[in-house]
Amino acid sequence: MTVQAEALRRFVQTVVEAGGSTPTEARSVAHNLVEANLTGHDSHGVGMLPRYVDNLLAGGLQANQTLRVVSDHGSLLTLDGNAGYGQVMGEQAMALGIARARQHGVAVLGLANAHHIGRIGAWAEQCLDAGLVSIHFVNVISEPIVAPFGGSDGRFVTNPMCVGIPVAGADPIVLDFATSRIAMGKVRVAHNKGETLAPGILIDDQGQPSTDPGVMFREPHGALLPFGEHKGYGLAVACEILAGALTGGITLHGRPSPHAIINNMLSFIVDPERLGTAARLTQETRAFADWVTASPPMPGQRVQLPGEPERAWRCQRNMDGVPIDAATWSQLLAAGARLGLEETALRQIAQA
Ligand code: NAD
Repeated sequence: MTVQAEALRRFVQTVVEAGGSTPTEARSVAHNLVEANLTGHDSHGVGMLPRYVDNLLAGGLQANQTLRVVSDHGSLLTLDGNAGYGQVMGEQAMALGIARARQHGVAVLGLANAHHIGRIGAWAEQCLDAGLVSIHFVNVISEPIVAPFGGSDGRFVTNPMCVGIPVAGADPIVLDFATSRIAMGKVRVAHNKGETLAPGILIDDQGQPSTDPGVMFREPHGALLPFGEHKGYGLAVACEILAGALTGGITLHGRPSPHAIINNMLSFIVDPERLGTAARLTQETRAFADWVTASPPMPGQRVQLPGEPERAWRCQRNMDGVPIDAATWSQLLAAGARLGLEETALRQIAQA
């Protein structure tokens, strides 16, 4: 089925409010999840909601939290997300970081202990709207599902990193990816659709290559591989330590609670105006962008800049709506039912 973005937002907002959130919190969660679908990242879209409901009911996700400032030294901030909705904690943390970057030229922000903060590109986009460059390193405290380079079982999660660069008068650069070959949510989406995955992404519980996303949903489960062999693995290690330790958060070791997905994030936010290089940043980025995208394309391809695919998806899905596969849809209805919402009423919201 296909659902229009506005109806999908109302659907998510209804479920999150039924979980005890204020309308403002529920709106933020709904906006953020639907944005992930709109930008083509169904892995981090509304399909996450059933897991959020499970975690909420099990006490691993707390509704209506406010960011706690652990330490404040002007351009250096350490924050605790109190296991609150990452959509809200992320937004509050970036707002603080943006204000400090404007004041001091740069802000270094440690956000520890937020529940799942979703698509990291959203936080770069918040900084881009303020004309600021940002770099984000994230770790994930959840069931370990990514194998280290040379290893054969999951030891960490999909640790994403993200860079946002504003370009005056042109589209920004937004690089935002998991350090695993693909995000776990994309394995879930393939599993829900009954599809197989390309070779080189998964290993089974014996460490053998597999194309079956089911290896991640049966016990003992298999693992995702890091992208780029030792390089992606190395970046995942850097994310784990920068986000999980330098922020005052935790790194993954042992088996964490199955009732939460905790994210820690270290963010650097820089004001190019204050650095005195804003004009050069624009001029050189535009020159390089023109140069690099002029590379003669390989057959059937074209050179794009990071952030371009998401803009194209957003354009298309804002017009056509967001496709929701049958398994995800029934998981969403079941999540609503767990919070006492009638299936018929939820169907009506999605179809309105
Ligand atoms: P992906 O593999 O789709 O890569 C996306 C990045 O690559 C984007 O910057 C995109 O613009 C760029 N890109 C894609 N195709 C391109 C092309 N042809 N040319 C140039 N650039 C191109 O993303 P992913 O690794 O599947 O991650 C998906 C999302 O999952 C991200 O938003 C990430 O932040 C999120 N994530 C979140 C968590 C979490 O714990 N919160 C964990 C992992 C991933």
